[in-house]
Amino acid sequence: MSKSVTDDRTETAFQDFKHAYSPEQAVVEANRCLFCSDAPCMQACPTHIDVPQFIRKIATGNLRGSARTIFEANILGMSCARVCPVETLCVGACVCNTLGVPPIQIGKLQRHATDRAFEAGTRFFEAGPPSGKSVGLVGGGPASLAAAHELRRHGHACTIYEKRSVLGGLNTTGIAPYKMRADRSALEADWVLAIGGIEVRTGVEVGAAPTLAELERAHDAVFVGVGLGPDTALRVPGEDLGGVHGAVAFIERLKLGRVALAGVRRALVVGGGNTALDGVRELLGLGVPEVTLVYRGKEAKMPGYRHEWSAAKQEGARALFQHLPVAFEGAGKVERARLVRMDDQKKPIAGTEHTVEADLVLVAIGQSTLGGLLGALAGIRIADGCVAIDADGFTGRKGWYAGGDCANGGKEVVNAAAEGKAAALAIHRYLTGGAHA
Ligand SMILES: Cc1cc2nc3c(=O)[nH]c(=O)nc-3n(C[C@H](O)[C@H](O)[C@H](O)COP(=O)(O)OP(=O)(O)OC[C@H]3O[C@@H](n4cnc5c(N)ncnc54)[C@H](O)[C@@H]3O)c2cc1C
Ligand code: SF4
Ligand code: SF4
Repeated sequence: MSKSVTDDRTETAFQDFKHAYSPEQAVVEANRCLFCSDAPCMQACPTHIDVPQFIRKIATGNLRGSARTIFEANILGMSCARVCPVETLCVGACVCNTLGVPPIQIGKLQRHATDRAFEAGTRFFEAGPPSGKSVGLVGGGPASLAAAHELRRHGHACTIYEKRSVLGGLNTTGIAPYKMRADRSALEADWVLAIGGIEVRTGVEVGAAPTLAELERAHDAVFVGVGLGPDTALRVPGEDLGGVHGAVAFIERLKLGRVALAGVRRALVVGGGNTALDGVRELLGLGVPEVTLVYRGKEAKMPGYRHEWSAAKQEGARALFQHLPVAFEGAGKVERARLVRMDDQKKPIAGTEHTVEADLVLVAIGQSTLGGLLGALAGIRIADGCVAIDADGFTGRKGWYAGGDCANGGKEVVNAAAEGKAAALAIHRYLTGGAHA
């Protein structure tokens, strides 16, 4: 257990939904791989892990070598093995899908190799000789962790500034507990830090203290990996009633502490994205008898992953498509939601307002952006609230780089890991007199 995460957490009620392979099962699955030379699975992985190579090493009993291949490309490969939406990434691209046989279970094989190395505390990488340069990393999520690790391999001193008390960002505070619990992500952060030379300052909000100017003076380069901000509100009457929560904030509470669900009978989850679907599955898993997804569009147009919605339905989820809450009502605590029906253009249909009972509401209609934090710095462009960067993560201001959700608008852990590493390599070139110098 990472000392930064308490063991009294609601999320511990969940078991892992995916079973780990036994050594024998892993070898059998590895031997199904065709070891394609132009492997499409590898192209579909944002960190371009050499999938056929790591699978071949499992097949030949070289688990340590397999883990090294994975971590060489993606230092967060252990959590990615659990949290990646593989159906839309590597597994979705596996050629077996076109051959009428089940695709290779790349995520489960990756987990098999990385778990052994992680649990044995194996260290694969050493810090490079000291370069005399220092880099400040804003935020302690996957993007910054991947960037800091790569920077240390090149010998640059790193300081991570994290406003929360735990590292790992949404990988720690947001991932559905049946995929991965908070303590594993926090332990993974400790394991990444074991390379040495990464100072961590938790409880520090950059922008307030230190200011951006102080940060710039303190370091030779800065990486910004602040992710996204608080849940977006519906801005309807009654949203401040007890029992109405932003979904990401609620999920953080159940992952890091306890949420009280005793007596909750009817929950509504507003939204159609992956956070909404996670919220539905988490409430069902915690025993809420009736959980209804309320989405303003049609089922076929929901942005959330199909496979997650299919799973939610099998677990008992209900849905009100083409509906939108216009108010929440109750005496001090939510008791009802007032809904309106929506037409095919997602416009409210007059005269269709009605109420449904609800004693818990999660609002999952998106998160705010944090690009504004950098808006005052000359040379940095903010687009749709996100930090605009080039392929190297360069922001346009000398020495300033960014990556992860704050730049891509909100993708996956594996994207943040890929962008953090790419930016670290660009920072290394910059600090050694190359690009952007
Ligand atoms: C509910 C939910 C479920 C998800 N499930 C999955 C999943 O199953 N699989 C998957 O791959 N992805 C999932 N994601 C997305 C994934 O978690 C993110 O894409 C990823 O964590 C982004 O990494 P990041 O480092 O860019 O940002 P974050 O993980 O958001 O980390 C940013 C960090 O910066 C800190 N910070 C912010 N501002 C400041 C400041 N001013 N000073 C100091 N620190 C600051 C924050 O506290 C945070 O720790 C999920 C997201 C959510 C919301
Ligand atoms: S990191 Fe994710 S996308 Fe890449 S190969 Fe592994 S499981 Fe697939
Ligand atoms: S595409 Fe499938 S079969 Fe080919 S290397 Fe990748 S996992 Fe193996």
